[in-house]
Amino acid sequence: MGIQLDPELVDAIRAAESVVVMTGAGISAESGIPTFRDELTGMWENYDPEQLATPQAFERDPETVSRWYDQRRANIAKCEPNAGHQALATLERWQTKDRGRRFTLLTQNIDGLHRRAGSANVVELHGTIWRWRCTKTGREREYRHIPFPSYPPLSEDGGLLRPAVVWFGEMLPEREMMTAQRECESCDVYFSIGTSTQVFPAAGLIQLAHASGARTVEVNPETTPVSNLVDWSLRGPAGTVLPGLVERVMPPTGT
Ligand code: NAD
Repeated sequence: MGIQLDPELVDAIRAAESVVVMTGAGISAESGIPTFRDELTGMWENYDPEQLATPQAFERDPETVSRWYDQRRANIAKCEPNAGHQALATLERWQTKDRGRRFTLLTQNIDGLHRRAGSANVVELHGTIWRWRCTKTGREREYRHIPFPSYPPLSEDGGLLRPAVVWFGEMLPEREMMTAQRECESCDVYFSIGTSTQVFPAAGLIQLAHASGARTVEVNPETTPVSNLVDWSLRGPAGTVLPGLVERVMPPTGT
C-alpha cells in the first residue's frame, strides 16, 4: 500500500535543479542497524551515548569505547543497504546522469551503507566507522578486519586507534561542512530523512535550506522538532516511503 503523495511535491522534485538529502540513523533502521535511541541495549543498556561517544570517554576508558565501536562495526558488516538507500541512489542517478542536475547526499550516519547502495555524491558529516585514526600520528586508514586483535587497538606506529567519527563536543570536518552549507544555500528541494534533528550543527542545515528558499520534506514515522517547518511530512518508514516517491517522480522507462 503506497503513501498518499501531493502532486505538488512530485512537481517540485521534477523541477528541482538541485536536490539535497540529509539522512540520519532512521534510514538504516530497516537494515537492522539500531538508531541511537535503540542502540544502547543488552550489555550497553546502562550507558548513554554521551558516556561513550566523547573524547573524554575515550581518554578515560579507551578499552570500553573501542569495544563498543568494534561491536557496532561487526553489526554493520552483517547488514545490507535497504530499499530506502537504494531509492536515493536511483534518484541521484536520474537527477545527475539522466538530467545533468545536482544531487547531494549529506549523512550523519557512519555505517557506509549509502555508498554500498550506489550513491556517489555522499558527504559523511560525522565520519565513518570504517576508518580509524592513530592518536599519536593523526594518520587515518581503513580497518575492515573484525574484531581488532586487542582493545584498545593500536596503529602500526604504536599509538591508540580511535574511530574516525565525530564525537559529541568535536567539530565537524570543515570541508564537508562547507560543502553542506553551500549546497543547502542553493538547493531547490531539501529532504530530512530518518533523523531526530537534534544533533547540531547537522540539525541546523534544514533551517539554512528553508531560509534560502528551498521546499522541504521530512520522511520519518514520528514527528520531530522540524515537522512544523517542513512543506511536506511523509509519515512512514523510509524503506517504504522513498521507493514509492521515487517511482512517482521518475518517468516510466521507455518514455
Ligand atoms: P536518532 O537516533 O537521534 O533518530 C533516529 C530517527 O529516525 C528518529 O526520529 C526516528 O523516528 C527515525 N526513524 C526510525 N525508524 C525509521 C525508519 N524506518 N525510517 C525513517 N525514519 C526512521 O538519529 P540521528 O538523528 O541520526 O542522530 C543521532 C546520531 O547518531 C548521529 O550523529 C549519527 O551519526 C549517529 N548514529 C548513526 C548510526 C548509523 O550510522 N547507522 C546509528 C546510530 C547512531
